[in-house]
Amino acid sequence: MRRALVTGASRGIGRAVALELASRGIEVLVNYRERADAAAAVCQDIIDGGGRAIPLGFDVADPQAVAAALAPWVEGPEGIDILVSNAGITADGLFVGMDPEAWHRVLATSLDGFFHVARPLARAMARRRWGRIVVVSSVSGIRGNPGQVNYSAAKAGLIGATKALARELATRNVIVNCVAPGLIDTDMSQDAPEGLLAGVPMRRIGRPDEVARVVAFLCGDDVTYLTGQVIAVDGGLT
Ligand code: NAD
Repeated sequence: MRRALVTGASRGIGRAVALELASRGIEVLVNYRERADAAAAVCQDIIDGGGRAIPLGFDVADPQAVAAALAPWVEGPEGIDILVSNAGITADGLFVGMDPEAWHRVLATSLDGFFHVARPLARAMARRRWGRIVVVSSVSGIRGNPGQVNYSAAKAGLIGATKALARELATRNVIVNCVAPGLIDTDMSQDAPEGLLAGVPMRRIGRPDEVARVVAFLCGDDVTYLTGQVIAVDGGLT
């Protein structure tokens, strides 16, 4: 049985990805930062559906916490075959007035968090000659969003990291791709400005499960000659 780690999986897109992967016969490590009860509920949903899931708490922005939590999995006989790097935050505000803390906090979670988690797992995947890494970026990282210079920078950085890492690992059968959601109905998008939907050709907000199915496809055996790509799941926005 393959095993996946999904960061930020206690709710939203991460939760939907965890459920989707589990429904495809993959054991899921359900990462959370604070909401242990929510992560436990996700695991219970998976187990009730006949799947396998284990909650795994750590803050992706904290390198020591990540190393301690991942060590048993990376160094043990049973590794992690699939990483979905999903944890992310926003701290919006116009750039000229942006608090340095808001800049650093967003980059620390999205970009540093990816580095802390993906590096040890990529090394182990390369050793085993099989792996899938899916990075959750955003359309903000492709076209930029006003009021989100920090978030857009972090998400664009993840696209660059995906492309470079895909090239590094291509001969090791470790496939690395990026998914860039548009406006998706989660807690994060509740403060999205009115009128944003008018720019979406499909004229509706996306659902987390619609992102999750694309992520799960990129994690599976059907993807063998596709790496370093950015797939926008955005109702035609980009
Ligand atoms: P969400 O806020 O519901 O979920 C984000 C998850 O990440 C939460 O479970 C949160 O606890 C977790 N998280 C945040 N910081 C963490 C940390 N330091 N360590 C561990 N976990 C942490 O939002 P979502 O919409 O489900 O977002 C999931 C991903 O999708 C994010 O990377 C987000 O940037 C991206 N995204 C969302 C949208 C959207 O419209 N909702 C659009 C584009 C991209």
